[in-house]
Amino acid sequence: MTEYTQDDLLPLSGIQHFLFCRRQWALIHIEQQWKENALTAEGRIMHKRVDDPFFTETRNGVITARSVPVASYRLGLSGVCDVVEFTPSPDGIKLPNRDELYLPAPVEYKRGKPKREPVDEAQLCAQAMCLEEMLSTGIPRGYLYYGQTRRREEVELTPQLRTLVKEISEEMHNYFRRGYTPKVKTHKGCRSCSLADICLPVLQEKVIAASRYIKQQIENGG
Ligand code: SF4
Repeated sequence: MTEYTQDDLLPLSGIQHFLFCRRQWALIHIEQQWKENALTAEGRIMHKRVDDPFFTETRNGVITARSVPVASYRLGLSGVCDVVEFTPSPDGIKLPNRDELYLPAPVEYKRGKPKREPVDEAQLCAQAMCLEEMLSTGIPRGYLYYGQTRRREEVELTPQLRTLVKEISEEMHNYFRRGYTPKVKTHKGCRSCSLADICLPVLQEKVIAASRYIKQQIENGG
């Protein structure tokens, strides 16, 4: 298995961009272009509310740690968990200055509602896999909280989800090594894409060039 170094680590948050559109991910993470729109700003504000570094609390025996930095050298990813909850469990791990064992579970906050594709689940699973590597434990489930539905969903971290995370991270590293930005391929997600006005003019130029070519061919009787 490949073990990455500190310098190789890619942002874990890129998984959502990558699954949404590989070109969007490449524009942000390879070409370093980032255009904030209302959607991303709203998401950032929501994250700011849960970003309260080093704060922990205990309620019903559950310890809550916020803004927890995580990394995996097997996946080559690093990021920050919004929240990690530690619930007392015989299957858990030892925490400093505590007698009980605790099972960790990442909790990720999302602005919208559950999506059709397992984008948020993959990001959550990647966080859990980082925690597993760091804490030498197994994490069977995590949670997604959606701002729009105000509901917390339990997510089982299945072998299929874990395979998806491994495949995505390998593909991301492969693109990154090659400095590869895929060509424009429009899909319905383009309508809500924060990079549309950076990305799509390229497509528009190509469409104009193609229609000019066709017109010329017709005029030349081709
Ligand atoms: S506009 Fe469409 S193709 Fe371009 S980056 Fe956004 S989602 Fe991807």
